[in-house]
Amino acid sequence: MKKYELIVIGTGPAGEKAAVKAAYFGHKVAIIEKEVRFGGAEVVTGTLPSKTLKETALYFSGKYEKGLFGIDRDLKREASIEDFMYRKNYVTSAVEHEVEENLKRHGVEIIKGTATFQDPHTIVVNGEEYYGDYIIIATGSYPFHPANIPFDGKRVHDSDTILQITDFPHSLCVVGAGVIGCEYATIFSTMGTEVSLVNDKDKILSQIDREVSSDLVTQMQSSGVNIYFNTTIEKVELGEKITVTLNSKQTFQVDMFLYAAGRSGHIKELNCEKIGLALGKRETILVNEQYQTNIPHIYAVGDVIGFPSLASTSMDQGRVAVAYIFKTEDLKHLPTCLPYGIYTVPEVSMVGITEEEAIAAKVPYLTGKARYSDMARGQIMGAKAGFLKLIFNKNDQTILGVHIIGHIASELIHYGMTLVEDKKTLYQLIGQVFNYPTLHDLYKYAAYDGLSTLSGHRVKP
Ligand SMILES: Cc1cc2nc3c(=O)[nH]c(=O)nc-3n(C[C@H](O)[C@H](O)[C@H](O)COP(=O)(O)OP(=O)(O)OC[C@H]3O[C@@H](n4cnc5c(N)ncnc54)[C@H](O)[C@@H]3O)c2cc1C
Repeated sequence: MKKYELIVIGTGPAGEKAAVKAAYFGHKVAIIEKEVRFGGAEVVTGTLPSKTLKETALYFSGKYEKGLFGIDRDLKREASIEDFMYRKNYVTSAVEHEVEENLKRHGVEIIKGTATFQDPHTIVVNGEEYYGDYIIIATGSYPFHPANIPFDGKRVHDSDTILQITDFPHSLCVVGAGVIGCEYATIFSTMGTEVSLVNDKDKILSQIDREVSSDLVTQMQSSGVNIYFNTTIEKVELGEKITVTLNSKQTFQVDMFLYAAGRSGHIKELNCEKIGLALGKRETILVNEQYQTNIPHIYAVGDVIGFPSLASTSMDQGRVAVAYIFKTEDLKHLPTCLPYGIYTVPEVSMVGITEEEAIAAKVPYLTGKARYSDMARGQIMGAKAGFLKLIFNKNDQTILGVHIIGHIASELIHYGMTLVEDKKTLYQLIGQVFNYPTLHDLYKYAAYDGLSTLSGHRVKP
């Protein structure tokens, strides 16, 4: 039997970064992958495909360039599904190759096949046994399939199979107004598909600030997305068209259906029960703050442990687990201040607390806001919508939250992250000099707006 100091199961972002880090520190590491392609949901079915499709939709639609030079670059009507998928395939292949190269460069042994526990230290792959002093489970998650949805991978999709469509739908029903549902709703709508979004709450993207969520609703609706609030799917019937009936008794027909509400931990083939691994809700694996399971030499990281289920956090969970296993002393935990990036059209990003959280925690707060269209760089870019909002403590002007909706929000947020993490005040923010003109001016103008609200009279930037 081959023996390793560490065996990692899964080559998604959590597994890759854990394996590479352990090998970098000189340990004997193997990684097991059951799929043909490396990289997990980040590369193959989730993060990068959807982000690339968004950029592709923006390119083909000319959405952000409309009217910029007095002429509209309308949707390139002849854009085929092959055109739409071309860059997605290119980017995912390039990154998949990079994942494989990274593992090989660090001397991680790659084992292809499905991992199953034989006992707490032994894993079987294709009939071969492998022994690990330590094991990290990084097997990710899979889309939840409720019984009343007739998934067929042709017209009725989850977020995996939607990437294999061979025709553009004229109309699409998306169920779930979380990150994945909202992203795909806006991608298809930008490509000219008539989109209906079904949401069981009164708010889309429930974790974000309500004002930003409402603004996104307005922008989605003005792009033609029809949003149904506070309702769920009663039935989906397949005929020449797909007939969707909601609990609210509304009925409509579409060409395609995407169910994007919820994911479960991918533990099916592991045989967790046999070795006594403690499990949580939705097939997740329970861990402590060090990502250690109830079996001390087995760790679990990434989507398989549940929230926040992001590629960004999964990578660092893998690195933290290795820090504890091999005592590398470089990384003890993930920061508490995490940015969230939502790649809808327009993008949304946030860090720190929302207004609702400030109210619930009885924090004395005020806000300051700046609009993209009021910034010189926003004018140059032709930005008509979007804003940045700062939430700050009324008593000491410490910045508690940053919320952005608009172009490259997920990039702009990182400056806000340092403000919140370092507990900077509005005064410290306006004391900085930025390149001019840039969208970072949004921060300064929002700070001055906040000071105006605080003093009761306008403070000029
Ligand atoms: C549509 C979509 C959009 C997303 N967008 C973003 C985004 O914008 N930003 C962001 O940060 N996150 C995003 N995510 C989430 C992100 O993709 C996941 O959080 C991340 O991929 C989880 O990483 P992981 O390593 O835990 O698991 P995964 O990436 O799922 O990788 C798990 C790997 O384990 C393998 N595996 C499973 N079981 C076994 C077994 N028994 N034996 C061997 N191998 C096994 C799988 O084949 C897979 O390769 C998105 C997800 C989706 C679905």
